[in-house]
Amino acid sequence: MRKPKIVILGAGYGGLMVATRLQKSLGVNEADLVLVNKNDYHYETTWLHEASAGTLSPDRVRYDIRDVIDKNKVDFIQDSVVEIKTSEKMVILENGEVSYDYLVVALGGESETFGIQGLKEHAFTISNVNSARQIREHIELQFATYHNETVKRDERLTIVVGGAGFTGIEFLGELTNRIPELCKEFDVDFHKVRIICVEAAPMVLPGFDPELVSYATSQLEKKGVEFRIGTAIKEATPEGIIVGKGEEEVEEIKAGTVVWAAGVRGNSVIEKSGIEAMRGRVKVDPNLRVPGHEDLFVIGDSSLVINEEINRPYPPTAQIAMQQGELVAKNITALVRQQEHLDTFHFDNKGTVCSLGEDDAIGVVFGKKVTGSKASFMKKMVDNRALFMIGGVGLTLKKGKFKFF
Ligand code: FAD
Repeated sequence: MRKPKIVILGAGYGGLMVATRLQKSLGVNEADLVLVNKNDYHYETTWLHEASAGTLSPDRVRYDIRDVIDKNKVDFIQDSVVEIKTSEKMVILENGEVSYDYLVVALGGESETFGIQGLKEHAFTISNVNSARQIREHIELQFATYHNETVKRDERLTIVVGGAGFTGIEFLGELTNRIPELCKEFDVDFHKVRIICVEAAPMVLPGFDPELVSYATSQLEKKGVEFRIGTAIKEATPEGIIVGKGEEEVEEIKAGTVVWAAGVRGNSVIEKSGIEAMRGRVKVDPNLRVPGHEDLFVIGDSSLVINEEINRPYPPTAQIAMQQGELVAKNITALVRQQEHLDTFHFDNKGTVCSLGEDDAIGVVFGKKVTGSKASFMKKMVDNRALFMIGGVGLTLKKGKFKFF
């Protein structure tokens, strides 16, 4: 009998979880495993705010995919996915194509700009290792240029962060650590630098405990962050942004750097492939398959799972992507072995910790609220756990965060 071919698209949290679990659960004679990813490395998306601010080197946030896959069992293809042809069970890559019997789409998300004019052209997004490098180097360039202009432009030193959700707040935390270092390095007066967070919603970190949110905002404000809450970015321009509270109250904020950290949509490959989706995210069935497609699983930021308790989608997180990855590996193993029972997905929320920079964070872990260095310690544990789940002790020791205080 012909061996089924399982193809996994994307080597992020979800994709690598599927690949590493399947290489353990299935024997070489049971199935062919193929993993496709644009780069030959995996990056810890949840650490990108650190690489973007310059508090962590870009090399620390990534590792070689071949370090965690079993080369005898998984055929790794470094290429970009262009389209999925579901009717032909075929994936079109930039440099070829690959057929499948079972397909797992784990291509992650993309930035959602909600049609705001100029954002794509004039704002950075924290999306991958290269975009993180670009943000870090752009900010450094602004500091380096400041003293070299005949007419000094203080707005060069203004950094606008769009969005006070998880990514925005974590990036702000890192910036508050990095800016004093940059001021020293480039002989810039700290008081000339402005870090402004603009958020359209009426609150910071929606969904978080209000007491923790108030701790986070006051800590960041103490370190110089200005919050403009209930204020929408109307447009991004080469000079900065235009914000507004209503139609009348429109204001220009001049800034040398604008980073858009609000909103995630599914990978554009999904819509390009004609798979039904809401903002590129596929509402998967309880087994994490695309309704009507028994051979097609979607996990991570490109999937959409409803939290029945509040009848709203779970926010896209690494935690959910990894749990989905574990379940899909189990279900594919069952399908390959022609077992009838497939498991259904239930998100087991182990808690959330949001970093506020070095040695500070907020979070709810095992139902308990934590702040400060205790929360920061928990955050590093969460980061190390993700490494451990995919690459075991070896990867954790190589890449883990062990500087606790
Ligand atoms: P990813 O981990 O993003 O992986 C997608 C993979 O697909 C990547 O390797 C990418 O290179 C590859 N890929 C993409 N397109 C293609 C293509 N066309 N062809 C080939 N390969 C492709 N979540 C938490 O749970 N906790 C946190 O503390 C947290 N902090 C965050 C901080 C920041 C700054 C950001 C940006 C996100 C954070 N998140 C956090 C969210 C979390 O990172 C995502 O939800 C998670 O990465 C989603 O996992 P994924 O497997 O779907 O995709």
